[in-house]
Amino acid sequence: MMKSRLAPLSLLVLALSAGPVRAADLITLDVDLRESVRQLFHGHEVIPVKPGPLTLYYPKWIPGEHSPSGPLENLAGLKLTAGGKPLAWRRDLKEMYAIHLEVPQGVSSLDVTFDFLSPSNGGNFGQSVSATPDIADLEWNQVLLYPAGAAAKDIQFQPSVKLPAGWQYATALDTASKDAGGARFKPVSLENLVDSPLIAGLHFKRVDIAPGDKVPVHLNLVADTDEDLAITPKQTEAMVNLVKQANILFGSHHYDHYDFLFTLSENTGHFGLEHHQSSDDRSWSDLYTTPETTLVGAHLLPHEYVHSWNGKFRRPAGLATPDFTSQPMQDDLLWVYEGLTEYFGNVLSARSGSITPAQYRETLAFDAATMDKRPGRSWRPLQDTNDEAQILYYAPREWQNWRRVQDFYVEGELIWLDVDTKLRELSAGRKSMDDFAHAFYGMDDGSYVVHPYTFDDVVNTLKGVQEYDWAAFLRERLDTTQPAAPLDGIARGGYALAYTDTPSEYFKAYEKVRKVQNLMFSIGLQLDASEHDKGMVQDVLWDGPAFKAGIGPGMKLVAVNGRAFDADKDVLKDAITAAKSSKTPLRLLLRQQDTYLSFDVDYHGGLKYPVLTPVAGKAPLLDAIIAAH
Ligand SMILES: [Zn+2]
Repeated sequence: MMKSRLAPLSLLVLALSAGPVRAADLITLDVDLRESVRQLFHGHEVIPVKPGPLTLYYPKWIPGEHSPSGPLENLAGLKLTAGGKPLAWRRDLKEMYAIHLEVPQGVSSLDVTFDFLSPSNGGNFGQSVSATPDIADLEWNQVLLYPAGAAAKDIQFQPSVKLPAGWQYATALDTASKDAGGARFKPVSLENLVDSPLIAGLHFKRVDIAPGDKVPVHLNLVADTDEDLAITPKQTEAMVNLVKQANILFGSHHYDHYDFLFTLSENTGHFGLEHHQSSDDRSWSDLYTTPETTLVGAHLLPHEYVHSWNGKFRRPAGLATPDFTSQPMQDDLLWVYEGLTEYFGNVLSARSGSITPAQYRETLAFDAATMDKRPGRSWRPLQDTNDEAQILYYAPREWQNWRRVQDFYVEGELIWLDVDTKLRELSAGRKSMDDFAHAFYGMDDGSYVVHPYTFDDVVNTLKGVQEYDWAAFLRERLDTTQPAAPLDGIARGGYALAYTDTPSEYFKAYEKVRKVQNLMFSIGLQLDASEHDKGMVQDVLWDGPAFKAGIGPGMKLVAVNGRAFDADKDVLKDAITAAKSSKTPLRLLLRQQDTYLSFDVDYHGGLKYPVLTPVAGKAPLLDAIIAAH
């Protein structure tokens, strides 16, 4: 049975307004996207002010990015005027996201104009490419300044946007008025404005994925061509199921309405950024039209949707900061924020039918094996990948297995599977993480006022579901260096992580879509298989066979046993298979900068790909966990 999803009115009022909104307090923000084809977004603000010293902030700590990643370097052309006269400003020397100025006597409002130089290449998250000739993705934090000294929930904005002719848009903001040139939105707090990005484009589709429901949920698509918008009825049905299954899992929702803002393009960055009432999701152009891409991209929308509950509504205390600049965020609980979202997101992918149970197990096998082959776990406990996350998000790709990066996602997923199966074991099948989900997120249905939590809150909620020393259970997995990944959840689920010489459907799709050859589980290296960098060594397994031979990331594979390497022709894979029945090492020729180097890789174990195999005599609990409710 689904709980009522109507929000209590009193909570809604509390969420939407921190106090009476008077027109005089409103900051107006007009963003012009009509030059997005050359990556220029123009901004104009009118900020009510009083005479005297004033500090303006540019958003620095970006929610969901968990980092001081506000793209300050892309803010240009900044001009401040009052009554048509320019005002001087000076940057703070310790906090470069702040500027100081003196507001003259008699001045009550400030005009601020600027250009946001939206990136044309590279970058992570919102700092990646956000505009194509037919698409513009707008994160409001990139195009505004705000006065220091008040909480983001107490600063009111009235935003508007101008769009190229013929474009449509989607956002969780409520539209106040709309015309051919763009739209003006209803007043909103700075907190909710930054939480409500906008996508716009010439090729646009809006799909109702909560048909007949009182609380609307829509999938909004923009792409570079109409062909890329060809979502099938079966794919739509999986999204409808996702909304149903998530609401059953959590027993609540924390939005008035929810909008997936999905950009399908090879030309923009690819990532997902969660918000309370929407998510800014960007993926491959053929996500709905090529089966392998559909499979590899299947986890994105469930993950970002789960964040509405886990990450936005319930948020680690260290991430619940009052504004976007004055205080740093602390990432120590990302193994809950991201790890549990990864767990619930993948479970919901299976429960909603966007992936099959076999595909779920194949994905889990890949994740588990990747964490298991992380020699860096000998020096860096998982907790430290959380604590340093704001740096590790920007770490280079090479030596990932030794460095350890954002392992709190995937290893977090394994830990939560461990917890879920332990709950089921201790309670003889009566309790599970579904009960935790109800207890931890199910309160205040309809409200999106943030509820911060601590480690103790997580432990106490688990104890409320099932008495156990959860603090010790979790701290052991977080704080100590463990030689192997936490695989007990898979074992209790009735499966074992094993290796076979044949890649799974998921593994093959992953290699094709990501354009890599992943041989980390055999000779211990991963190669770039893209046209541009074919044969480039992306990573080498620390202490693995290729490592022992002397190979490092950044080298380029040229030949295998004297034959030219071609990623499309399985030259290396065939040689690895042939070496099984030989005592001769593989001879690899690689180019490092301007030098050709030869390496002998003494490996005879054949190709290896991760798989989950059923354990004889054990009930397949894993299959019960991912069955639709
Ligand atoms: Zn996430």
